[in-house]
Amino acid sequence: MKIEELILKWALKNALDHEGRAYQNAVLSKIIREDPSLKTRIKELLPTVEEIVNQVNSMSIDKQKNLLEELAPELLVYEKKIEEKKLPPLPDAVRGRVVTRLPPEPSGYMHIGHAMSGLLNYAYARMYDGKVWLRFEDTDPRKVKLEYYESFRKGYKWLKIEWDYEKNNSEDIELFYDYAEKIIELGRAYVCFCPHEKIKSLRRKGLECEHRSQDIDENLKYWKMMHDGRFREGEAIVRLIGDMKSQNTTMRDPAIFRIVEHSHPIVGARYHVWPLYDFAASIEDGVCNITHILRTSEFALRDELQNYIRDLVGMSNPTYIEYSRFEFKGTPVSKRKLRAIIEAGLAERWDDPRFPTIEGLRRRGILPEAVKEFTLTQTGFSYAKREYDWSLLYSLNRKILDPIARRFFFTPSPVKLKVEELEPGEITIPYHPTNSSLGMRKICYTDEFYISSLDVENMKDRDIIRLKYLANVKIVNASKYEVIGVRSGGGPAQNIPIIQWVPLHRSLKVKVLVPDILYLDGEKVNPESLRIIEGYAEENIVEVKVDEIVQFERFGFCRCDSTIDRIFIKTHD
Ligand SMILES: [Zn+2]
Repeated sequence: MKIEELILKWALKNALDHEGRAYQNAVLSKIIREDPSLKTRIKELLPTVEEIVNQVNSMSIDKQKNLLEELAPELLVYEKKIEEKKLPPLPDAVRGRVVTRLPPEPSGYMHIGHAMSGLLNYAYARMYDGKVWLRFEDTDPRKVKLEYYESFRKGYKWLKIEWDYEKNNSEDIELFYDYAEKIIELGRAYVCFCPHEKIKSLRRKGLECEHRSQDIDENLKYWKMMHDGRFREGEAIVRLIGDMKSQNTTMRDPAIFRIVEHSHPIVGARYHVWPLYDFAASIEDGVCNITHILRTSEFALRDELQNYIRDLVGMSNPTYIEYSRFEFKGTPVSKRKLRAIIEAGLAERWDDPRFPTIEGLRRRGILPEAVKEFTLTQTGFSYAKREYDWSLLYSLNRKILDPIARRFFFTPSPVKLKVEELEPGEITIPYHPTNSSLGMRKICYTDEFYISSLDVENMKDRDIIRLKYLANVKIVNASKYEVIGVRSGGGPAQNIPIIQWVPLHRSLKVKVLVPDILYLDGEKVNPESLRIIEGYAEENIVEVKVDEIVQFERFGFCRCDSTIDRIFIKTHD
């Protein structure tokens, strides 16, 4: 190795160890350690070291990496798998006794919010050798659909969440009826016939309606009539006697049962009196002996009501731990907003890579381990609403992918390059600069190539560029339509740009979908939220199977979405 290369190698290594900045003294001591005979020549070497360090410090980190990759790949360090974080202790937790639950409502596709909640509840159960319930909150027949149950089961499995028990609340309708009757007999619930608008207005004013004073026998009679089909949907509901003056409006005589004239996807048309969410969830949490509930702070107002329902029927209450509600920058999670995007024709399906649905994240190339790490490190146990930037999740994902993703040459918006005096040949290069388990690949070339127009933009005649792993080329004519160069000697150096290339006659056309955030400011739709970039990739790309995530060098990590049309989705840089 020439002395300049030796200096360059250690300058790059030192820069990459210090966020892109190399230090002269550190570089000096490294080169002397490698070649002790240089010790006597320090004075003479100093100006060269200084010059090279300055040049390295003016490069981007990507460029530093790229250069070191060819010069001394053994010095590159790829961060190992991220370490698992410890969660803060759970209050009132007894080892072996903790029971938590995953309570999805199967009325839409699973999204990242469900994933984060599921991961927390699961992590705590396992931390205390406890148990986990998967319980579908499916007592709204109009909203629930079979495909949504499956979306959650699949999503939890993808996250490697293993639940111990599973049930649907809709299996327990008879049980809910028994508890309702018990509460009516206690004189703590009544059948109300007020129209919806009147109930709303009285609740707002904190006033009781005339039905609250019906006696127990009357209420039992009406309750029976509800089951006998004597009332239609909307004509009668069962309300809990709470406190019409409570500051917590959920306590103002909430409805606990109503009539729904709609078939349920699992239990069919057998029932038409259905419990509302708070009632079904409180009873089920009691029945399943749930000890701890971790959920977002928007549920905080419901704790009082749910505890009150369980107190009435003599069940014990769980410990609630509320964490901040989260939002992702530029990305709605609400079903209504995502549906509007589909209906407006801006996205085709719920697994669109711009969507925060689990299928959307998976298709984009986000790994379940990254979602887990993100959840355990980012969730704040406070009430403040938080807006997350996607870049945090991407950086965790990148740390996992970087040491294991195969590298391929890809030239987006390609331009032809002809190199005179270059003999045709074949090179064998690694799929990964340091991870030798990923193997080697061969590329056959002639004197004609494709390179990216982005690299051509900055080229001038007489510039020297380096075709990575292959040869240096002196530019003769840097036209944006076709570049002509001539082979020049030498190897990788700090003042020569290193670019990716593919052989002109042995390359494959590839389409890359590049997703971005859906909303710009507020809810203004981002017109560039899904760009399509076309280019050529090296032939070895035919080995890539659907779902593999590769790195197109100096372009980004991309997941293979279709091998038939050779479509990739860009995960992130
Ligand atoms: Zn009423």
